[in-house]
Amino acid sequence: SPSCSSVIIVGAGVSGLSAAKVLIENGVEDVVILEASDRIGGRIRKQDFGGVPVELGAGWIVGVGGRELNPVLDLARKSNLRTFFSDYSNARYNIYDRSGKVFPRGLVEETYKKEVESAVQKLKKLEADCGYGGDFSNATEPPSTQKTPMELAIDFTLHDFEMPEVEPISTFLDYGEREFLVADERGYEHLLYKMAEDFLFNSEGKLLDSRLKFNKVVRELQHSRNGVTVMTEDGCIFQANYMILSVSIGVLQSDLIAFNPPLPRWKTEAIAKCDVIVYTKIFLKFPYKFWPCGPGKEFFLYAHERRGYYTFWQHMENAYPGSNMLVVTLTNEESKRVEAQSDEETLKEAMGALTDMFGPNIPEATDILVPRWWNNRFQRGSYSNYPIVSNDHFVHDIKNPVGRIFFTGEHTSEKFSGYVHGGHLAGIETGKALLEEMEKEKERTSESENQT
Ligand code: FAD
Repeated sequence: SPSCSSVIIVGAGVSGLSAAKVLIENGVEDVVILEASDRIGGRIRKQDFGGVPVELGAGWIVGVGGRELNPVLDLARKSNLRTFFSDYSNARYNIYDRSGKVFPRGLVEETYKKEVESAVQKLKKLEADCGYGGDFSNATEPPSTQKTPMELAIDFTLHDFEMPEVEPISTFLDYGEREFLVADERGYEHLLYKMAEDFLFNSEGKLLDSRLKFNKVVRELQHSRNGVTVMTEDGCIFQANYMILSVSIGVLQSDLIAFNPPLPRWKTEAIAKCDVIVYTKIFLKFPYKFWPCGPGKEFFLYAHERRGYYTFWQHMENAYPGSNMLVVTLTNEESKRVEAQSDEETLKEAMGALTDMFGPNIPEATDILVPRWWNNRFQRGSYSNYPIVSNDHFVHDIKNPVGRIFFTGEHTSEKFSGYVHGGHLAGIETGKALLEEMEKEKERTSESENQT
C-alpha cells in the first residue's frame, strides 16, 4: 500500500532541504523527501579529482561584503567552511592572444570601458523596445558588429560572469560585490549536511532518517483537490496532502515528470520562457605548473576569434597550493558542444589553447574532468536565467502553486535566481507559504465540521 504523509518534497538540493527544515521545525514532521540521485546537494557537488576536492557545481559564495549578510555566508561560517576571496576583476589584465602575448593594460582598460558602455546601452534599448510588462520574447538583438578576439574575451566575461558593472543585480546590491571561492575538503555541500544535521543527519554526516529517500526518480505526478500521488521509476507510490517540487527549470522543461492533469497554461508558458544557462567547469591536472602565479594572476583569459572558446581560466594554487590544476569555464553552446564529444577531444582543444598562450613546451595534462550538467536528466542545465526584461507576472507564474503542488528552487527566487542563496531563500519561502496554506486548510475543515 502506498505510503502517505503530509508533504512530499521532490529533490534534496539546497532548496528542498531548506523547505524541509522549515516544515519540520514548525511541527510538520511527516514529510518525505524523494531524491532521484544517491546523494544530497543537487547542483552543489564535490568530487575528488587529482587529489583535490573540486566543485563541479556551485563554487562561490556570491555576494559578500555588502550591507546585509548573505545567508549562505552565514551557513558557511557556522560550518567553518574554508573560503578564499576571488578577484575576477584582475582577469582582464591577463588576456593572452593566440601568440602568447599579453595585451597591454591601457588598451584593455579602454576596451573594457567601451564594452561596459555598449552593454549598458544594449540593455537600455532592450528595455525600451519591450517595456516593462511587454512581451520580451519578441525583442530582437541588434546585429553585433565584428568584434576582435580581445573584445570578445571581455564581452564573454562581462556577460557570462555577470559583472555588476552592467546591470544592477540584487545579489550584489544587497549582499555586496565580493565572491568567495569555497575550497574545503568536505565540499560546499558540507553546509547542507550541517543545515540538515538536526533533522536528517548526525554530526558525522550519517543519514539517520528514513524520511529522505535516495534513488527515487519521480516520473508521474497525479494531483487533485484532495491530494497528490507520486509514482517513481522503480514502481513506488507515495501519497500526500501536499507536494513541494524543487526540480530545476531544465527538468520542468523536459518530459521527465508527467503531470496528471497537465499543468495549466500560465505555468507551462512561464516555465518555457525561462532561459537555462549551461555553465561548465573543466578541470585539468598537470605534472607541474607552467602558468604565472602570485597576486592578480588567479584568472586569465584566452582571446580567440570564437566567442567563449576556452576563454576563462583559473588556477587553483591559491586554494590548493601544489595541486597543479587549472579550471577552464565554458558556457551554453560551447558547453553543449563539449558535452557531446569525448573527453580526449576536449583535452586536445584545451591543450591547443594553452599551447597558444604558453608555448609548445608545456606538459600534457595527465587528467581531465568534464561535468555534464546539460545531459544530466536530473538537471538539464546549470541554472536559470530570467528574461532580461522580466516582469512581476512572469516571476509569480514561475513560483505560484498549482493546486496542492508548491514550487521551489533557485528559479523561483524573485531576487536571487541562479544562486545557492536563491535556492536556500526560495526553500524557506515556499516552506512558509505551505505552512500558511495548511493552517488555512485546517481552519476551513474545522469551520465546515462546525457547520455539520
Ligand atoms: P538542485 O540543486 O538542482 O536540486 C534539485 C534536486 O532535485 C536535485 O538533487 C535533483 O537530483 C533532484 N531531482 C531532479 N529531478 C527529480 C525527479 N524527477 N525526482 C526526484 N528528484 C529529482 N550558485 C552560486 O551561488 N555560486 C556559484 O558559484 C554557482 N556556480 C554554479 C556552477 C555550476 C556548474 C552550476 C551547475 C550551478 C552553479 N550555481 C552557483 C547555482 C547553484 O548551484 C544552484 O542555484 C543551486 O544549487 C540550486 O539548488 P536547487 O535546490 O534549486 O536545485
